Amino acid sequence: MENMHTCTSERLFAETDLPVRSAPAITLTEQPKAKPRFKPINRDQLIMRTVDVERLVAADHPVRAIWEIMGQVDLSEFDDNIRAVEGRAGQARLSPRLLASLWIYAYSEGISSARELARMCEYDPGCQWLTAMGTVNHHTLSDFRVESRTALDRVFIQVLGVMSAEGLVELKQVMQDGTKVKANAGKDTFRREERLRQHLQLAEKQIQSMGDPRSDAISQRVAKAQERAAKEKKQRLEQAMDELKKVRQGKTAEQAREARTSTTDPEARVMKNSSGGYEPAYNVQISTDAAHRVIVDVAAVQDGNDWDQLMPAVERVEATLGTPRQIIVDAGYTRRENIEAIADRPIEMIGPVPAPAADQHQYAKRGIGADFEVEAFKFDEAANHYVCPTGKILKLTTKQRHAGRVKWKYQARPSDCQTCPFRDQCCPKTRSRRLTRSEDSATVKAFHAKMQTEEAKQIYRRRPQVAEFVNAWIKDKLGLRQFRLRGLVKVQAECLWVSLTYNIQQWIRLSWRKRFAAA
Ligand code: SF4
Repeated sequence: MENMHTCTSERLFAETDLPVRSAPAITLTEQPKAKPRFKPINRDQLIMRTVDVERLVAADHPVRAIWEIMGQVDLSEFDDNIRAVEGRAGQARLSPRLLASLWIYAYSEGISSARELARMCEYDPGCQWLTAMGTVNHHTLSDFRVESRTALDRVFIQVLGVMSAEGLVELKQVMQDGTKVKANAGKDTFRREERLRQHLQLAEKQIQSMGDPRSDAISQRVAKAQERAAKEKKQRLEQAMDELKKVRQGKTAEQAREARTSTTDPEARVMKNSSGGYEPAYNVQISTDAAHRVIVDVAAVQDGNDWDQLMPAVERVEATLGTPRQIIVDAGYTRRENIEAIADRPIEMIGPVPAPAADQHQYAKRGIGADFEVEAFKFDEAANHYVCPTGKILKLTTKQRHAGRVKWKYQARPSDCQTCPFRDQCCPKTRSRRLTRSEDSATVKAFHAKMQTEEAKQIYRRRPQVAEFVNAWIKDKLGLRQFRLRGLVKVQAECLWVSLTYNIQQWIRLSWRKRFAAA
């Protein structure tokens, strides 16, 4: 086919005298695709750039709120541990306001490791804003977290004061709840006395054989670290022996023989968890103001039972904030003793009624036949005695007052029972038959009656929404599924940091953020 461009140029040049040069032939065939150009990546260079620290985080970023509230509370109690002072030599320390803010921010992000927090300071905008792009040593963070329990207590209470002033703490209803938090110790670290003694002897031998670190071939630093680790191990084993004595208190001889303590965290105790299993744990008691789900008290205890924790928790709340109007508890707390103790205060208790007394339900253990249980005995109220199935009388022997209950004890004459044909079914293990009658006190009866009302039942139904919400939040969002620290004092400090973080999160949500919504 004739090329159209070539024909046109030939005609044009034919009309002139100019020599005709044939134009280069243009073909319409497809050109090869050009290679794309990419920006080079050069990592062999140093870059300096300007950072506007103030603009690292948005105006409503939580670190600004944390920094603000830490500026409102008095942190001077933390200053007691600072040796660097004005006018004297020594490196300046990081302020307690900064270190406290960093920890609260870390816990709010589910971080409880000092090393991880130190790393965050290098890349996380929130931490960079707090430190103004500075670095923080993980030892400094680690020491600050546990160095002053009383100072931390004061900060917790002061934050509650700020929240109370803004109407976020009312103390009309306080929910008490306990949750087991796994200790930083494995089940396989628990040992009986014999094994503890063996480990202790080995640890002592190890320390004795270490010799002088200055004369060792290894570096002094390594030798000192090894010596320190061996001494700490010995201390933990000695503490485990001491804790074993506490664990054995109130136990039978057989139970005492089987008692064990952990060589990793001697103060941890084996407790039943919510899924029915047993693991080393601490019992974390949380008191929550129901109005805005604010934690008003927290404590970690070694006792797995909740009932003994109610009155100490009430006393702590009274000492720091005031007397709550109502205390709402679950079945773990509604013992008769607690009902009586709360009744002595201007506090109303709401909770499930206690289980019936178990004294009369141990017939099998005492070898008593089904036909000779208490129902087979007739109670004569006027004479205040029982009459047995063969017509013999069981006289009143003692009357005992327990908290929330009165007990009357009755006994048949031994001469009657020794000759009785039914003795093997009625009192095979005692000289004569005994019976106990118990009755709830007027206070406990009144509590029973109150808990039958619809109003009380409705109040109790609110409990899971508040108490269990807080438990779930601190475990799922703030990471308190397992303690990172060991020992009761440090574990309590960890509980306080987590609760403080939770409360500040509530303050941010309920108060601080409203400023931006209004703007
Ligand atoms: S053993 Fe004693 S109390 Fe029991 S039926 Fe006989 S006489 Fe009565």
